[in-house]
Amino acid sequence: MAHGASLVARLPRVRGPYQPGAAIKDLTWFRAGGPAEVLYIPPDAEDLALFLKELSPDVPVTLIGVGSNLLVRDGGVDGVVIRLGRGFMNVTADPMNRLRAGAAALDVAVAKAALEAGLTGLEFMRGIPGTVGGGLRMNAGAYGREFKDVLVEALALDRRGARVRLTNTQMGFEYRRANAPADLIFVEAVFQAAPGEKPAIEARMNEITDARSSTQPIKSRTGGSTFKNPPGEKAWQLIDRAGCRGLRRGDAEVSTMHCNFLINHGKASGDEIEALGEEVRAKVKAATGIELEWEIKRIGKKGT
Ligand SMILES: Cc1cc2nc3c(=O)[nH]c(=O)nc-3n(C[C@H](O)[C@H](O)[C@H](O)COP(=O)(O)OP(=O)(O)OC[C@H]3O[C@@H](n4cnc5c(N)ncnc54)[C@H](O)[C@@H]3O)c2cc1C
Repeated sequence: MAHGASLVARLPRVRGPYQPGAAIKDLTWFRAGGPAEVLYIPPDAEDLALFLKELSPDVPVTLIGVGSNLLVRDGGVDGVVIRLGRGFMNVTADPMNRLRAGAAALDVAVAKAALEAGLTGLEFMRGIPGTVGGGLRMNAGAYGREFKDVLVEALALDRRGARVRLTNTQMGFEYRRANAPADLIFVEAVFQAAPGEKPAIEARMNEITDARSSTQPIKSRTGGSTFKNPPGEKAWQLIDRAGCRGLRRGDAEVSTMHCNFLINHGKASGDEIEALGEEVRAKVKAATGIELEWEIKRIGKKGT
């Protein structure tokens, strides 16, 4: 990785701050992994569009939301890591029972705005600890609903800073992924809801919150579900069957509470957590013949 300061000298002049060598582990739930060569926090879509338009095409760009499905490797991330700033956090309801949300808004904030507006259909978002942008990329979902079921359209910027509008179909949603071009940066989304009764909406959200805290290690340093559920199977059951519950590598552990979650008990490095995940994959393959696919996005290079 080149020294971040020398990359900054090559970057477009924009308002958003550049932070060379930023410890992006602090922006992830795992709290592990190496630095970004440069972290850029665009204050709004205008700044981001200008940045992308003027950025040399050879500089890699990596997006992070709140890092709830993200593992950073120890060698850090080359190029520019972007985390959307305050101007991407607005959530507003419109008269057509839709919610328009900036891509840096938390899913929880969207759920809360829906409750305040007396709109139902978005209660599941109460249980997902990520941003709208991360949810679009991951087709995040819980309790039988996912982004695919509620998205009207997404707005994005392409690698050259041009605005792109994507319908639900154009997002190419599948289980925990969107097939929309990988270089798109989502900046906004519009969700469809329906009129509902506030007490019922609130009760459902409370149910979801309670169910979460009793079944998932939500107060731990984790990345959520590590592996996708293979067709017709539950990843956690396969991991359990392979004897991996509680498996440890240093401070990295397969959660004893929900064994599709990996936990950093404090000092685990990004590479250690990834190696533990690979060990789980190998053991599951040996025990069941099934190859688990990572759901967690891993970014950056391994350390030395
Ligand atoms: C305790 C816990 C519980 C969880 N429960 C669930 C659950 O029930 N259901 C579920 O689906 N997920 C769950 N997750 C995973 C995670 O919350 C979701 O995948 C979430 O959508 C990720 O959002 P994020 O902002 O944290 O994205 P990040 O983890 O920061 O990034 C995830 C991916 O999205 C991309 N991305 C982020 N923002 C943008 C953007 N603006 N434009 C383009 N790409 C972007 C990143 O490049 C990366 O590839 C859980 C995680 C935790 C820690």
